Amino acid sequence: MLGFAHTPAQDLIEIDVTFACNLRCLNCDRSCTQAPDAGHMTLAQVERFVVETRESARRWRRVRVLGGEPMIHPDIDRILAILLAWRDRESPDTTIEVVTNGHGRHVQEAIARVPEGVVVKNTRKAGRVQPKFEAFNEAPCDDARFAWTDFAHGCWVTEECGIGLNALGYFPCAVAGGIDRVFREGAGRASLPAEGETFREDLRRACARCGHFRGGWWTPLEDRTPVEGEPWSPTWRAAYARAARGRRRLPLYTEGGAGGREQ
Ligand code: SF4
Ligand code: SF4
Repeated sequence: MLGFAHTPAQDLIEIDVTFACNLRCLNCDRSCTQAPDAGHMTLAQVERFVVETRESARRWRRVRVLGGEPMIHPDIDRILAILLAWRDRESPDTTIEVVTNGHGRHVQEAIARVPEGVVVKNTRKAGRVQPKFEAFNEAPCDDARFAWTDFAHGCWVTEECGIGLNALGYFPCAVAGGIDRVFREGAGRASLPAEGETFREDLRRACARCGHFRGGWWTPLEDRTPVEGEPWSPTWRAAYARAARGRRRLPLYTEGGAGGREQ
């Protein structure tokens, strides 16, 4: 009756430029550990995002680059250069941010090359256990307490981080893009959705599987209970088993939209 609890921020976007990562954290909410994938976004896809932004006159308050570990993308320097050039030329109020785990020499060398004007958010991860992570793979749809829930409400992530883009297209949040990669449903939008798009059906599908939905609202780190190991509920167990077994061509975020690659 009161409407939906969360709505995707229209002026924030997170771009997962890769699902490869040099760390294998437990409970990774992009499934980089649970379902590894060395696929990256291409430079053409990043350029296409810029073109779509220009053609739709979309204003972004923040464009955040992450993954996976973005600093191990072989073209990360050029990706940041493309975004920075666009920002300086066409959208000076936009913050370009890159989020890195800061782990290892290769990553640190790439961080040192990040051009001035890009904000680096370094989470300085040192190992596989992140005590403040949530149980991402405990799908609420497997829990009887959520039997009557409308998952289209989403959670704080879509509101605070905005919509997501990866090699498979646009999603209501970047986490939902990572979920689609594993479930192989090809739900990514092939072009930038119009401003005001609320992605309700996409949220209904993704949030039913997403452990972040359980909390709903942001829980301060100090109030979180550390997760023991990496619990997988039946929906995730089945999805990871399918992902490990089978390969399905997924549509890519490409000109024309009808591409595909082995995932
Ligand atoms: S560093 Fe980030 S992307 Fe990599 S495994 Fe850990 S949580 Fe996932
Ligand atoms: S519950 Fe998960 S998929 Fe849904 S909005 Fe939150 S982070 Fe995204």
